[in-house]
Amino acid sequence: MARNLNPKCKQCRREGVKLFLKGDRCSTPKCAMVKRNFPPGVHGGKGYPRSTSYGLELREKQKAKRIYRILEAQFSKYFVQATKSKGNTEEVMFQLLEMRFDNVVYRAGLAKSRDLARQLISHKHFTINGKRVNIPSYKVKVGDVIGIKENSKSSKVFDSIKEQIKKIEGVSWLSIDPEKLEIKVVDKPKLAELKEFNPKLIVEFYSK
Ligand code: SF4
Repeated sequence: MARNLNPKCKQCRREGVKLFLKGDRCSTPKCAMVKRNFPPGVHGGKGYPRSTSYGLELREKQKAKRIYRILEAQFSKYFVQATKSKGNTEEVMFQLLEMRFDNVVYRAGLAKSRDLARQLISHKHFTINGKRVNIPSYKVKVGDVIGIKENSKSSKVFDSIKEQIKKIEGVSWLSIDPEKLEIKVVDKPKLAELKEFNPKLIVEFYSK
């Protein structure tokens, strides 16, 4: 499975915002967006250039791809799928991205970053409706229950998981039970909850 292996902090600096790709480090003064808040590269010190409307749309698309840790081919497939659906293209595209299994594990606080979520899923630590699923891009459905495999619960990687879950902000479409370590998908994500990127610009980018 192809992955985005570019240096994470450089990706944040390119977009000019924190993308939260490194878990705990992102909330500390060690974050590169705190220490070097300018674009990477030899001309980076000049700051962020002014952009054309095409440039803004391109940056927004790149930002969303980097947030969800997916590559162009997969990302553009989500757009095509969204345009073919009956709903609002922006909202459907957002839902396709949010309802990826790796994103759900991250949103629920079971992993500190989407990369870690993807790794834990590939290592078969999670179940959906009692069945083991090891595909990070798997699309969850309303009603699905995600859990940690019984013999994985004692694994070191989940040591402080209950405390971690209690601290996260959470999203309205996931119901999280920190005692049972279970997540239920109770609704579809709504555009009103989207803060990290502007889907309108992405739809405009692909519609040209
Ligand atoms: Fe981005 Fe800062 Fe996290 Fe690096 S530490 S990935 S710059 S948010």
